[in-house]
Amino acid sequence: MIRYCKRCVMPETKPDLYIDNEGVCDACRNYEKRPHVDWTQRYKELNEILERYRNKSGSNWDCIVPVSGGKDSTYQVIRMLQLGMNPLCVTATTCDLSDIGRRNIENIKKLGVDYVEFTTNPVVRRKLNRIGLTQVGDISWPEHVSIFTIPVRAAVQFNVPLIIWGENTQDEYGGPAAGKESKVLDRRYFEEFCGLLGMRVSDMAGFEGIEPKHLIPYTYPSYEDIQRVGVTGLFLGYFLPWDGYGNALISQAYGFNTLSTTVEGSVVNYENLDNYQTGIHDYFKFLKFAFGRATDIACLHIRRGRISREDGKEMVYRHDGKFPWTYLGKPLKDILEPLDLSVDEFIKICDRFTNKKLFKLDAHGELIKDRHGNLTKINYDNE
Ligand SMILES: [Zn+2]
Repeated sequence: MIRYCKRCVMPETKPDLYIDNEGVCDACRNYEKRPHVDWTQRYKELNEILERYRNKSGSNWDCIVPVSGGKDSTYQVIRMLQLGMNPLCVTATTCDLSDIGRRNIENIKKLGVDYVEFTTNPVVRRKLNRIGLTQVGDISWPEHVSIFTIPVRAAVQFNVPLIIWGENTQDEYGGPAAGKESKVLDRRYFEEFCGLLGMRVSDMAGFEGIEPKHLIPYTYPSYEDIQRVGVTGLFLGYFLPWDGYGNALISQAYGFNTLSTTVEGSVVNYENLDNYQTGIHDYFKFLKFAFGRATDIACLHIRRGRISREDGKEMVYRHDGKFPWTYLGKPLKDILEPLDLSVDEFIKICDRFTNKKLFKLDAHGELIKDRHGNLTKINYDNE
């Protein structure tokens, strides 16, 4: 049986999730603490940090804002401009940038910022996507790495020490810049930020003709370079109450585009719009851990009291973990084409990474699929 948090709808199969003896998950427990946070004090702290890093002579940018073009990064840029900062926005191009993702990047520029986009070698990138998918069941491995390495490389390159990250997934600290003696952003933080699934960047060399020189953008700058520039960072979500839905509403008021329908496998139309491969990424999360994007979204809205747990359960049942035949309207076949994979080969890879303990099997121990290729979880709630 899969055990679920009795307050939200998250299953305990989510990596690093802990459900306590009252049946409540640690994400819900963290959210309980929110009303006790002194947001006025944190806002003051944020202003103090920004003041410390603001370039008074006007000879360099005040901070780097890593931007994907999504609702959260649009919100980060809006807030930085409101706080009087002069940011350099840096995009690490997604693995397979969508049309709406491109429009949202153009929209960020129009907010009135300097902007740099770093696009990695697409031939190498496709190889890394395929290796990630076939070796660790994560097509987005190069994206998870590059969204952290490229802004840090830009900080070193442009001599701008402060990086403004968005949400702090650990929810505990404001980042190294908030520390008493502003620590530099070292490799340890980097490794805490992003799940590399046991596959290090250097492990990629040797696969499919990939050499170390192909992996430069995926490599963290040297400690000497970080130290010289004093690269540090903060999580905006620690200083300002963070709500993806609220960020989307604010961003839309500043020109951010959403879809006319909900995103496949999700229940909202305002996030994960920038990469055609995201549907595959989220589907593999479902195959491995029995939850997908719809569960994530339902939990966020349940915690904020916008929907009931019953409604959330229904949303999950209807939308979570559906086979990704299309994403953002693009057919799976076309999404797989640049990776040199057919849909049949893709289905075999899916089956290989499916945790068979979490899904219904037939008498021969084979996964039961409906006519659309969808699986059924062994249970959708606590009994
Ligand atoms: Zn919970």
